[in-house]
Amino acid sequence: MNIKDCNFNGKKTFVRVDFNVPLQNGKVTDDTRIRGALPTLKKVLNDGGRLIIASHLGRPEKNPDEKYSLHQILYKVSELLGVEVKFAPDCTKAQKEVESLKNGEALMLENLRFYAEEEGKPRNLPADITDEQKAAAKKEIKEAQKSFAKTLASYADCYVNDAFGTAHRAHASTAIIADYFDKDNKMFGFLMEKEVTAVKSIMDNPQRPFTAIMGGSKVSSKIDIITNLMNKVDNLIITGGMTYTFTKANGGNIGNSIYEEDKLDLALELIAEAKAKGVNLVMAIDSKIADKFANDANTRFVKEGAIPDGWMGLDIGPDTEKLFASVIENSKTILWNGPAGVFEFDNFSHGSFAIAQAIVNATKKGAYSLIGGGDSVACINMFGFVEDVSYVSTGGGALLEAIEGKILPGIAAIER
Ligand code: AMP
Repeated sequence: MNIKDCNFNGKKTFVRVDFNVPLQNGKVTDDTRIRGALPTLKKVLNDGGRLIIASHLGRPEKNPDEKYSLHQILYKVSELLGVEVKFAPDCTKAQKEVESLKNGEALMLENLRFYAEEEGKPRNLPADITDEQKAAAKKEIKEAQKSFAKTLASYADCYVNDAFGTAHRAHASTAIIADYFDKDNKMFGFLMEKEVTAVKSIMDNPQRPFTAIMGGSKVSSKIDIITNLMNKVDNLIITGGMTYTFTKANGGNIGNSIYEEDKLDLALELIAEAKAKGVNLVMAIDSKIADKFANDANTRFVKEGAIPDGWMGLDIGPDTEKLFASVIENSKTILWNGPAGVFEFDNFSHGSFAIAQAIVNATKKGAYSLIGGGDSVACINMFGFVEDVSYVSTGGGALLEAIEGKILPGIAAIER
C-alpha cells in the first residue's frame, strides 16, 4: 500500500518513527528527526486515524531507564504536531490507552528499547557462561522478540514504517511486526519512501554515466561499498585520506599522509578490478599538503606521489578539483559519500567544496544526485547546498548498507 492512497479514518495506526533525538536537561536540542516524520503523522491524524507513535531513544540497558524515557520529548511532539499527544508508560501494556484513542488523537509509547526484545539481543549476560548457554539465550530472546512484535502489532489495524535510520536492523518494531499485517495494511511513511526511492534510483536503474565519489579516511571502512559499486558505476572517484593507500601501493611518496599498510594489496586489487570491469577509476593527481595536522599548518601543492617526508596530504589540489569536476559534471547519476580532505579545517575544505559545487552544477543540468553518509551530509550543510542537490539522505548506516547491496530488513518486511 502507498501511504498517499491510504485513508486512515478510524484506523488504529502504528507508526514506527526515529525520534532518537539529542537531549539536554530533558529538553530536545535538535528536533530535525521529529520534523522529518510530521508529514506521515499529520496525514494519519488529518484522515481521522488513531495514531500510535513508537520509537527508540538512545541505548537503555534496563527497564525503565529514566534517562532514556520518551516522556521527555512528549512536549515537543505535541507542539510540532499541534495536538496533545498521550503517553503509554509501558509499550507492552498499552492496550487500554490504545482503546481509548478517538479518531484524530495521538498516543506515544514509551521507549521500545526498554525491552531487550526490541533488538532481539540478550542483555546483561553473565561473563562466565558457556557458548551453549549463550546460544540458548540468543534463541530464547529471538522467540521473545516475536511475541513482543505480536503484542505491538495487536494494538493496530495498520503499520507504517517511517524510520529509515533503523531500516538495516531486523528489530521487532522495524521488521518483524510487519509480518502481522497484510500488504494492504503496511506501508512506508513519506520520509522512508523518499529514502527508498533515492536508494532505488541509484542502485536499480541509474541513468548513465553513473559516478560514485567515495571519500573519507580509510579504505577499510568503505571496502564493501566500493566492491559493490564496481558492478554498478561508470566512474569511481576515490578521494580523501584513502587516496594515499592507493598512491603508496603504486609506489608514490606520501610523506606522513594517512594510509593503511595492510590494505596496500587490496588497493592494487581494486585498481585491477576496475580495469577488468571497465570502470573509470579516477584519483587525485595533486594534493594540498601540510607540515602538521592543523588548520594553521604551512601548505603547498604537489603532484600526487611527490609528498616530501614530514608533510602530509590533507586535501586535493586544484588540478584534481578540475579533473573531478569534469567527470562529475558529465554524469547523469551521482552518489557522494565521504569528504575529499580534512574539511573540518577551513584550509582543507576547498576540495570537498569543489566536489559539492560540481554536483550542484550537474544537478542543475538534470543529473540525479544523492548525498549520503555523515560527513558528506555535513559538507553539503556547511556549504549551504542542501536545496541544490536531488536528495540528502538521513539514513547514515542504513544508506551505506543499501549501497553495499544488502537487503534492508525494514524495507523487505514492507515489500513482501
Ligand atoms: P570517514 O569517517 O571514513 O567517512 O572519513 C571522514 C573523515 O576523513 C573526516 O573527518 C575527514 O577529516 C577525514 N579525512 C579526509 N581526508 C583526509 C586526509 N587526507 N587525511 C586525514 N583525514 C582525512
